[in-house]
Amino acid sequence: MRINRRSLLAGGIGAGTIGLAPAGAAQRKAGTPAPGGPSPQDLDRAAAATVLKLDALKSPVIIESIKLLRKDKDYLVQVRSRDGAEGVSFPNPPRADYLDKILKQLVIPFFIGKDARDLENLLWELYRFHDNYKLYGLALWSPQAWVEFAILDLLGRIARQPLGALLGGIVRREVAIYVASGRRDTTPQQEVEYLQKLVQQSGARALKFRVGGRMSRNADAMPGRTETLIPLVRKTFGEAIDIHADSNSSYDPPQAIKVGRMLEEIKAVYFEEPCPFDHLEDTKAVADALTIPVAGGEQEYSDWRFRWMVANRGVDIVQPDLHYYGGMIRSIRVARMAQLAKMPTTVHISGGLGFVYMLHFASCVPDIGRYQEYKLGTEKYGNWFDPPITVQDGKMTVPSGPGLGIKDLPGLLQGAREV
Ligand SMILES: [Mg+2]
Repeated sequence: MRINRRSLLAGGIGAGTIGLAPAGAAQRKAGTPAPGGPSPQDLDRAAAATVLKLDALKSPVIIESIKLLRKDKDYLVQVRSRDGAEGVSFPNPPRADYLDKILKQLVIPFFIGKDARDLENLLWELYRFHDNYKLYGLALWSPQAWVEFAILDLLGRIARQPLGALLGGIVRREVAIYVASGRRDTTPQQEVEYLQKLVQQSGARALKFRVGGRMSRNADAMPGRTETLIPLVRKTFGEAIDIHADSNSSYDPPQAIKVGRMLEEIKAVYFEEPCPFDHLEDTKAVADALTIPVAGGEQEYSDWRFRWMVANRGVDIVQPDLHYYGGMIRSIRVARMAQLAKMPTTVHISGGLGFVYMLHFASCVPDIGRYQEYKLGTEKYGNWFDPPITVQDGKMTVPSGPGLGIKDLPGLLQGAREV
């Protein structure tokens, strides 16, 4: 089915062309629906549709203060309304160590005195505020996400609804997880032993490991590691475990296709970031050549480029990072475009409490792909939530309490100091 869609698209919209408004202009008249896929206009409409459902909030929620706090090693962003309601969010470590100035000078001042219920419309004005658009990318989108998440928590607490209900409606309450190794310093044998440990500790039924050398222009982490590791992982785990691989932008298309064929052999779930993350043409060439899905987008910062990736099937699975990409609302817009093209949105997650935002995103987005990332070491945060986040039978639960679902907010904020 996927090959059919690709061959249809090959003669259709913007094959091999980077650029948006005139996508596919060389092949056909702009504005003509792509055969087998959504048109740019359909994608625009999907992205522009209202995300937030705020019917339960009848009176203004005027933002009085937003503060960056620190408790032990964890940062928090706290928002308070004039009526004394509160919300918090958790920045992605270690970014608050150096993006705090952008947060305080360029993001927070914009929101003071605004009605939090206008959040969705305010994002465009925030982008223009003090020429913020010139900083777009992780540096602007992360602080924007921290404030957006805190405001969503505030609104959810007032409405007594979990984030997923505010963001479109709950479609699931638990998500299947994979556990990821972040290592490249291991030999193939050491790596499978490490993966066995991760699978045992997490109870996950799926795993991800790293191939290539990370932004390495085809060089492997050590000679022959990737070719040995791929079949060894399948041999070690058998058919019971699903396998993902991530090259972190390691390859040019010929090498990526070679590694991709090995992943096809072992029936991997997907191949992540085969080529330099912002080389959309090369990534598409690899996705076109392979039969297993290619995933990408963790370092994509532009909604237009995501639209291009969806319209042109530049990848098969889109992966915005909820922090790096500026929050839930922007990421849900990507997911809505992807849904029109029948592509899953499997978000990339940052460390710390990034997984909690993934859970809420997954709770309200229909097609999230087969597995979401689980980071070992985050168990300690589970008890902060109502009900506690648990992992059982390879599935993680979504908190169902109001907002983000924090059980005892005053207790959590005790001892936190303003940065
Ligand atoms: Mg990755």
